Amino acid sequence: MINASLTELRAALDAGKISSVELATLFLDRIERLDPSLNAFITVDRDGALEAARAADARLAAGDAGPLTGIPLAHKDVFCTEGVLTTCGSKMLANFVSPYDAHVVSLLKAAGAVSLGKTNMDEFAMGSSNENSHFGPAKNPWDTTRIPGGSSGGSAAAVAARLVPIATGTDTGGSVRQPAALTGVTGIKPTYGVVSRYGMIAYASSLDQGGAFGASAADCAQLLTAMAGFDPRDSTSLERPAEDYSRELAAPAAGRPLAGLRIGLPKEFFGAGMADDVRAAVEAALDEYRALGATTVDVSLPNAQLAIPAYYVIAPAEASSNLSRFDGVRYGHRAAEYRDLAEMYSKSRAEGFGAEVKRRILVGTYVLSHGYYDAYYLQAQKLRRLIAQDFQAALAGCDIIAGPTSPTTAWAIGEKSDDPVQMYLSDIYTIAVNLAGLPGLSHPCGFGAGELPVGLQLVGDYFSEARLLNAAHRFQQASDWHLRRPAIAA
Ligand code: GLN
Repeated sequence: MINASLTELRAALDAGKISSVELATLFLDRIERLDPSLNAFITVDRDGALEAARAADARLAAGDAGPLTGIPLAHKDVFCTEGVLTTCGSKMLANFVSPYDAHVVSLLKAAGAVSLGKTNMDEFAMGSSNENSHFGPAKNPWDTTRIPGGSSGGSAAAVAARLVPIATGTDTGGSVRQPAALTGVTGIKPTYGVVSRYGMIAYASSLDQGGAFGASAADCAQLLTAMAGFDPRDSTSLERPAEDYSRELAAPAAGRPLAGLRIGLPKEFFGAGMADDVRAAVEAALDEYRALGATTVDVSLPNAQLAIPAYYVIAPAEASSNLSRFDGVRYGHRAAEYRDLAEMYSKSRAEGFGAEVKRRILVGTYVLSHGYYDAYYLQAQKLRRLIAQDFQAALAGCDIIAGPTSPTTAWAIGEKSDDPVQMYLSDIYTIAVNLAGLPGLSHPCGFGAGELPVGLQLVGDYFSEARLLNAAHRFQQASDWHLRRPAIAA
């Protein structure tokens, strides 16, 4: 059961081979046994999970089960969960019990999915390694001396170690795809606006997007189907008909399953900076795609190298505004002693936020201030537009774009934590996708030195999630990288 796909779990639940309570207990016991060495969870909600599982069993008995009824999952701790601690990885919110559910959380509850708890993350989703968490770093299940990636590192590690079959995450600059790559799982960030941001604690609102982690593209497709959909409470939520992202997966693959698919390879994603072991795994995966019938064409994203500087102006600018609400007045941490209101604000914020969050608030406030706005913020917005145009030009000549998700495999805990620029560069292949608002997926495509997973990133045009998932699914039907498990998960 631990390694079963969602389809297999569904069949077992429907056939009465296992109850939802038994399934939840199986994974909760695993969390209890393995999480002390992984730190993937900030909160484990055994009582809430068992209650939800009992309700799922009642629905099953009544013949009222949907695709995810009775399936255990975990939420990144950026999603508000009613009555359950919602910390966002920060001391600032270390005591915050949300009075309401995020839209994604309520959709999954209504679907009958069983939340086992909240996963570890970089503070306010700022980071690429999970080391910025107030609750200590999550560990990579393939090597617990290494980082699992960030900021959704806890969700990725939990799925990789099979502490839970599927998990939610968010991706502002790569935080679903990069940890998926570094832990050997599949992760998808949909088109901006497909998943509601209501109740998802804001980092950079024009970039933040909820996403899904699973062992396979097929599992991600099922989770994304349940998470997505219009929500009037999010002003950037897109009003479109609901989609079944699994709809093409069941189609029988006659002949070569990817015949006719044109994969664009941006030369900027294959230059210097990619580690040799990552390059070898990515090239081998592209050969496999060709064997499945796809053709590859060279494309160019000439402004892609400007994505990181543009992002590190825009994201901090939005963060400085979004995080101004944490002032010690309404909720969250408040300093114990202060002389006046101004000191209460400043001491609460000085104590409640970690170093990286403070760095970004300072940068963001600076680039938005009078006299600097035009020089930095406005320029960054122009670059953002150029980057989006590059993708449109490239996608005119291909159906999907492929390349590495991360330039290296998982690095050692502590290796980059004193060097923010090195840390920022680890998102070089993922950030441009958020700036353009496009969907992106990462799936396991091999192993590098030290048996560490390598991910392949697929990017498509707006609303091409089903196509990306389908391509990854065909790859996974013909390979077994996504079925490998770290020794700790045995
Ligand atoms: N690593 C990037 C950052 O630190 C992206 C984080 C994310 O996608 N939430 O901002």
